[in-house]
This record gives sequence, structure tokens and C-alpha cells, in this order.
Amino acid sequence: MTHVMNTYARLPVAFERGEGAWLWDASGKRYLDAMAGVAVCGLGHSHPKYVAALRAQLGKLVHTSNLYQITLQEKLGDRLAAISGMDNVFFCNSGCEANEAAIKLARMYGHNRNIEAPAIVVMDKAFHGRTIATLSATGSRKVQAGFEPLVAGFVRVPFDDLDAVRRVAESNRSVVAVLVELLQGEGGVNICHDGYLAGLREICGTHEWLLMLDEVQSGMGRTGTWFAFQHSGVKPDVMPLAKGLGNGMPIGACLAAGPAAQLFKPGNHGSTFGGNPLACAAALATLDIIEEERLMENAVRTGDFIRAELGRKLGGLKGVREIRGKGLMIGIELDHPCGELVPQALGRGLLINVTMDNVVRLLPPLVFKREEAELLLATLVPLVTEFLDRQSAPQAAAQSA
Ligand code: PMP
Repeated sequence: MTHVMNTYARLPVAFERGEGAWLWDASGKRYLDAMAGVAVCGLGHSHPKYVAALRAQLGKLVHTSNLYQITLQEKLGDRLAAISGMDNVFFCNSGCEANEAAIKLARMYGHNRNIEAPAIVVMDKAFHGRTIATLSATGSRKVQAGFEPLVAGFVRVPFDDLDAVRRVAESNRSVVAVLVELLQGEGGVNICHDGYLAGLREICGTHEWLLMLDEVQSGMGRTGTWFAFQHSGVKPDVMPLAKGLGNGMPIGACLAAGPAAQLFKPGNHGSTFGGNPLACAAALATLDIIEEERLMENAVRTGDFIRAELGRKLGGLKGVREIRGKGLMIGIELDHPCGELVPQALGRGLLINVTMDNVVRLLPPLVFKREEAELLLATLVPLVTEFLDRQSAPQAAAQSA
């Protein structure tokens, strides 16, 4: 009997070691990793420079606490501010905590403006985490069911629908912020139209709301820029980060700018582990390596190649609804639930994921090479076409009967 709580329907494999985009299990079988630990290990596994940076820090200092100055935290704050244009940052350990900080910032911002019950506009199919507040913000009944009562103060609208946000603005005077993922990851790799972010910025400006972009999954180079908002040039007021920030060392961050940057005072928020020396050393090494190895350019090049090839090989097929994404955040939406593809791919030595039941999701490490992309396609395309054949076979049989 396992003594680990049954919160994940785990696949029957345990990895022992990794190198780049490859993982090995105990029997020596190797797997091509097109998940990167769910958009975490952008540098791939065991990157020598990352390992050396962690080893060096481990021998010096792991943790002191936020009761004292932490030089590496200051340094990481400077770097994050420089690459994002944001003013300052609160460090924590995960994506949900980064979102909790954002939600608290929004509420404090509202209270400072004498709004008694501040509300935040959130989106259908959004995913913001599993804590009580962040699951309340999440747009999935599956995530919320069984954990009611939910936290109040969230107003939900359809994703990528500016008019729906405008209608909320007209009717609800308690709104203080919008919280949105520009590319919804867990929700099915959903992308927004070009003017969406600028439209949200305009609405937020008119009503003095905070624009809060959850870049936990889309950030840290995954879409080809440090952050997904940088494709449009519209800057948020608040930006939660995690996942790829530490390449596997747990670290989250909530960045703030303008009116959101000076809200927290000593005692308003905190985290024991948040931004400790080891986590900050990991994040600093991650930032250095992404820059030095031009991994964002690789994310664009390799991501464009994979999406183009998927489009060419699967695009026209019956049963394939859409191939979409940006950089190395890629979704293939089918018209049937396709969870069975995950263990089938595993059997063929490939790690993929299916989200929202019918969207194959690919989140390869940013170091993914052209040959690895070709191998991914050579394994995945036949799997999907065989799946589609199986789906249409009973229908064809029924029609001919
Ligand atoms: N926000 C987004 C956009 C995410 O994708 C996730 C995790 N999938 C989270 C928040 C929560 O992050 P964590 O699991 O680190 O709490």
C-alpha cells in the first residue's frame, strides 16, 4: 500500500535520471520529454551549468529566512524587473501562492479605494491553482467540486470576450482587477485574439482596475519572449510567475508595477521559504542560461516547426479541430476525448499530456532540438492518426450496416 495520498492518477513509470530532453527509467528505457515537468524544466534535465550553480550554493547557504536581507533575492528581483519592466516582486514557492499574492494585492488595492467587497474578473476555463482562493478563481467545476464554500469576490466571464468584461464594468462597481492567462494552459491551450490584451488594458485604465496576468505557465521564455504579454507590448500591473522560473527548484514570484507595487507593507504578506538563497540561485542560473543559449529564439523556431508540421500532417484530418499555441506551448484539439494517447505515447517512449479531455498538450523544454522535434512528430503523428482511424471505424461500420 502506498502512503502517498491519491491526488494524481499517476502513469506507471518512475524516472531515475535525465539529460536534456531525455529521461530514463530504472530499466534503462529512455523517454523523450515533451512535457518538461509541466512547463517547468525549460533547460531540460541536468543542465551542467544549472547543476554547478545549485551545487555551489548548496555548499554555501540554503536558507536563512525573510527576517534578514537576502542578497540573491535582491539580485533576482533586479533581474526580473529588468526583463519584465515591472517595479518589484514578492517571492514565494509555487504558482498558486503567486496567484494568492496577486489576489491579496487586488483586495488591498480595492480597500484602499474604499471598496468594501472588492471583486476580480476571472475567465471560463482559467486555471490559477489548488488553494481555496485560487481554485475559486479557477474556471473549472472539476477543480472546485467538493471544496465549497468557494471564496467570494470572483466574477466569471468567457475568455477572449472584451464585451463580456465591459458588461461587468457597467454593472459591478466592486470590481478592482482582471486576472487572466493570455494563453490558457490547463484550459486547453486556448489563445486570445490580437487586440485582447490592449482591450483589457483600456478597460482596466478606464475603471482603474489592476490588470493581472497569470504567466505561471506561459512565462519564462516558453512562448518565445520572457513573458507572453511581451508579444503585444501591453504591460500588466501584476504578474504571477512560477514553474519555469527555477527550472525545477520550487520558486514562485508575484511581480507588480505602478499602483500595485507599493501596496504591501511589512506584515501584510509573507512566506517562510519564499525566495531563499538556494531557490534564488536556481532562478538566477536559469535566467542566465536562457539568455546565453538563446533559448527563447529556439522556442520560437522549434515551436513554429512543430506546429507547422502538425498542421501539414494532421491539419486536414477529420477529427482534428485545431492545432494552436505559441512557441513551445502547443495544443492539438480533437473532437473526441483522447486521454488514451498519453499511456500509448509513454509505451512508445514519449511524454505528452491531454488536457480538457480532448486537447493533446505539448510543453517541451526550451532546449528542444530540431532532431528531437522530428522524433516527437514521428511518434505522435501516427499515434493520433491511428486514434482517429479507431474513432471513425465504428461509424463507418455503422454506416455500411
Ligand atoms: N497558474 C497557471 C496558469 C498554471 O498553469 C498553474 C499550474 N498548472 C498554476 C497557476 C498553479 O501552479 P502551482 O501548481 O505551482 O501551484
